[in-house]
Amino acid sequence: MPRKIEPGDILLAVLVLTPLAMAGPRLWELPGDGAIWLLSLAGRVTGVLGLSALLVTAAMCVRLPGLDRWFGGLPRLWLLHRRLGFSAFLLILGHVLLLSFAALPLSLEQALRVLFPPLAHAPIWAGWLALAALIVALAPTFQVSAIHYQRWKRQHLLSAAALLLALLHALPLIPERAAWWLLSLLALAAIAWRKLLAPVLARREYRVAQVTPLAADVVEISLAPKHQGIVHSAGQFVYLTPQDPSLDAGYAEEHPFTVSSAPGAGELKLGIKALGDASLALQTLTPGSRVQVEGPYGQFFARRAAQRKQLWLGGGIGITPFVGAARHLAERPDHFTHVALFYLANRPARAYYHEELERIASAHEQLSLCIHYFSCCGPLSEAFLREHCPDFAERELYICGPPAMLEYLHGLLATAGVDRAFIHTEAFDFL
Ligand SMILES: Cc1cc2nc3c(=O)[nH]c(=O)nc-3n(C[C@H](O)[C@H](O)[C@H](O)COP(=O)(O)OP(=O)(O)OC[C@H]3O[C@@H](n4cnc5c(N)ncnc54)[C@H](O)[C@@H]3O)c2cc1C
Repeated sequence: MPRKIEPGDILLAVLVLTPLAMAGPRLWELPGDGAIWLLSLAGRVTGVLGLSALLVTAAMCVRLPGLDRWFGGLPRLWLLHRRLGFSAFLLILGHVLLLSFAALPLSLEQALRVLFPPLAHAPIWAGWLALAALIVALAPTFQVSAIHYQRWKRQHLLSAAALLLALLHALPLIPERAAWWLLSLLALAAIAWRKLLAPVLARREYRVAQVTPLAADVVEISLAPKHQGIVHSAGQFVYLTPQDPSLDAGYAEEHPFTVSSAPGAGELKLGIKALGDASLALQTLTPGSRVQVEGPYGQFFARRAAQRKQLWLGGGIGITPFVGAARHLAERPDHFTHVALFYLANRPARAYYHEELERIASAHEQLSLCIHYFSCCGPLSEAFLREHCPDFAERELYICGPPAMLEYLHGLLATAGVDRAFIHTEAFDFL
């Protein structure tokens, strides 16, 4: 997660704080004094903030190519979405607890009456139902248990019901409603776009031109646009939705894959490793079949200090953004300063693109290639890095691969004294 503040972060903060700002002095007008007054106020504030954070979290599920750049790319936007959603959940729990604690000094009976009023107090019961729906919808997000991604997505949609119930709870109790309507509209528009409109309006039609095996469970598929194709930069990714009914799994299911072709190439290429049922089925995609492509998203290479040399560290199938960038370098070497590419593969058979990368490196002085095999050398060490790229700590660093590898490399680079501001990462896992 980059530590830099993006323009979108400010927008999110403004949106979350708007209902609180609009509530103004009314928020303070409460019965009681001292601790009771303070607890009641804190209860109100957490409730207002919890609901606005929940609505903004829902609005953040929008996926529009280009918009994600305001937030530092789609993976970062997803991370913010998760963190804000989690904060909303905690605030809402705090809201319930603080209001009941505020009533406790009066009597236990009073506190219970605040929490469990007669059934006629529909807004309070709507609040309870919202909390229950939130727990069910968010539990898998907290990874209480491992769950299949598509099932997780369907369960996550339940949070829309939680939102609706939370509004039924809040709207009758809060007089200043303009901000709530605005946030509700944003959330509703985002969900409607994502679920109903984007599948029709945001996806481009492509045809599978070729499926090239790269290893036992890895292929590169080449896609030809039916009309106008997408325009991408190196390191960006797209959502691929195969419309090949003969697939064993993943038919009409969207999955993210990084573009491995150079920007501007006629065909879009995606290197796909079988990591689950859908990506396994994609290994047998029928040439000539229809696929849809949405994107591009992300901005892996967008942030860099001009003229600074680069170091690319690609692990396993995490080599794909670097393949796209190396192909770009082969076409436009003048766009690049010196790049040292470290390909971290398990063994020679798992270094999928190494022949092509070696060809590019031997033809262009801007690229040097070093392949590191885990099977013979163990995990990458600082000594190995230093031996093959002595100035690695002064370079702009880009890392892509499985989350565990990213964590390991972050530790290694921190120990080596590399400034975190120069490290850019992409994990092939949104969860
Ligand atoms: C930004 C990004 C770029 C990626 N680029 C590549 C690439 O170039 N080549 C490649 O082989 N793989 C890439 N992946 C990983 C690829 O998306 C998953 O392997 C694929 O979606 C797995 O689906 P499955 O049904 O086969 O496996 P499952 O068993 O369903 O999932 C395996 C893992 O993949 C993740 N996943 C599954 N579906 C999705 C989804 N729709 N969105 C986000 N994550 C999902 C889940 O976290 C799960 O842990 C990328 C992932 C991301 C997030």
